[in-house]
Parts: sequence; structure tokens; C-alpha cells
Amino acid sequence: MVEKIKLNFLGTGSAIPTARRNHPAVLLRYKAESVLIDCGEGTQRQFRKAHLNPCKITKILISHWHGDHVLGLPGLLQTMMLNGYNKKLEIYGPKGTSAKVRQFFDLLGRKGQDLDVKVKEVSRGKIVDEGDFYIEVAEMDHDAPAVAYSFVVKEKMRLDKAKLKKMKVPNSPLVGELVKGKTVEIGGKKINGKKLMYKEDARKVVVVMDTRYNEGAVKLAKGADLLISEATYSKEEQEIADEYGHLSSVGAAKIAKKAKVKGLVLMHLSQRYEAIPKVILKEAKEVFKDVIIPEDLDEVEL
Ligand SMILES: [Zn+2]
Ligand SMILES: [Zn+2]
Repeated sequence: MVEKIKLNFLGTGSAIPTARRNHPAVLLRYKAESVLIDCGEGTQRQFRKAHLNPCKITKILISHWHGDHVLGLPGLLQTMMLNGYNKKLEIYGPKGTSAKVRQFFDLLGRKGQDLDVKVKEVSRGKIVDEGDFYIEVAEMDHDAPAVAYSFVVKEKMRLDKAKLKKMKVPNSPLVGELVKGKTVEIGGKKINGKKLMYKEDARKVVVVMDTRYNEGAVKLAKGADLLISEATYSKEEQEIADEYGHLSSVGAAKIAKKAKVKGLVLMHLSQRYEAIPKVILKEAKEVFKDVIIPEDLDEVEL
């Protein structure tokens, strides 16, 4: 069975929240990993609404330290402490992250020392490599130090259990040898492990938050199954987008197209598109076909 990567769009709005769209936050779950990417104000309530447990968080990835992406962090950390969070929490972010995290913990007072936190400032390359997945980061082009993240489940060889059943191979500790590709004799039958294995492709999810269009984003997103990108502005507002260091609908779609991703998710919509996200969707579709704009609390899996 393939373990799914589950994505919960906890907040899909931008700098100013609306009734429909909260500040940005995305939760990525894979096996025991629960990775929160950005944590806008009110994110912990979005967790409750989505029936998700913040105490399961293993890593927090911060794109940059603008308020709309981080102001939910102190409250979330406090709740995690009150609920007896007992894992080692890893927080990653661009240059300046260590000082910011310290300031946030200061806000929480002495209690802040109850959490076991590891903070790491990151800018490029592989930042996590654990078992069957890794996380990469690349610098973006915003008006504060900003990074984008890529979460990759590595390609792996798997035993075709259906085939095994069809061949009526009885349960045996030797099945473990088949997984290694060896030929073994089970129940009087010679079985070649290599013929029972199949390749499960790698899966990749990339999250690009506030940035101008840049080749680093294209490179990071290369071949991704899903690119989650900000699209604050419409194409008519491209100049404003450039000025404030953001992507327009078309800019995000261009990254998706050039990186040859399989699907594009747009979020971080400006409040003025709250009621008309179709404008952003239509413009993006003219450049890249497979695009969606989720609502808050929507879940996608791959
Ligand atoms: Zn933002
Ligand atoms: Zn920003």
C-alpha cells in the first residue's frame, strides 16, 4: 500500500484575512511526519476546525518572517505546551529565524522553556534526509529573507503482494529475502524476488510562498507532482506584484509550466479576490492547465 502524502490547506488568504480565507498555513502529513509550512494568525483554530492535532507536528517550516506567515506561532506553541507536547520540535526558516523564534518564546514567558526545540536557519540544498523522504530549500526573491521548500518521498522498490498471493506463496520469513531481490525456495517453489518487485516513483510537493518570479523556484519545483504557490495578484497587477515581491496568477503558472509540474495549487490570494477567485484561476489556466484554488480546510492527497 502506498502511504499517501496528505495536504491540509489551513489558510489560503494573504496579508489581511477574510471570513472565507485565513492567513497562510499548510499542513503536510506523511506517515508519522506532520510538517507545518507557515503559521499565520489563527492557524491553531484552523487545526481545530479541520479536526487535526497540533501535538502531532514534527517540523515547522517558515517561508519568511512577515506577520501574515508567522503571527500564529506563539499561540500554537503555547497550545502545544499546554497539551504536553513531548517531541523534539524542529523549526526551519531563512536567515534571522533563530532570533525571531527566541522573541516568540520570550512572549510566552518562562513556560517557553518547556518545549524541546531545535531551530535551524536554512538557505539552500537538502536540510532534512530521514529514511524515505527528504526536504530541500531554495532562496526566494521577496523584500525579506525568504525560502521555498520541497518535500520528496524517495523512489523505492516494493514487493508486489498481489502477485505473491496469486502465486499462492505461503507466509514465510523467507519473504523478507524476496524483498532483497534474492531467489528463494518457499513451499517447494523457486521464487525470484526480482520478478516480484516493482518501482514506486518518487513523489514531490513544493511550497513557494511570497516571492517574485525566479529561476530558483523553477529549479526547486522541477518535475513536482504538486506545486503549491502564492498568487497574490492578477495579471493586470503584475507591476504591483513585482514591486512588492509577489507572484501574479500568471507568474505562478509560468513557474509550474517551466518546471513541468503535474499540478498547481494557488493560494495566498489577495482579499480583493475573496469572492472572485475565478479571475485568478482563469488567468493561470491560460498558461498552465492543471490548476486549482482550494478553500480553507480543503484536503488533497497524493
Ligand atoms: Zn504573505
Ligand atoms: Zn511576505
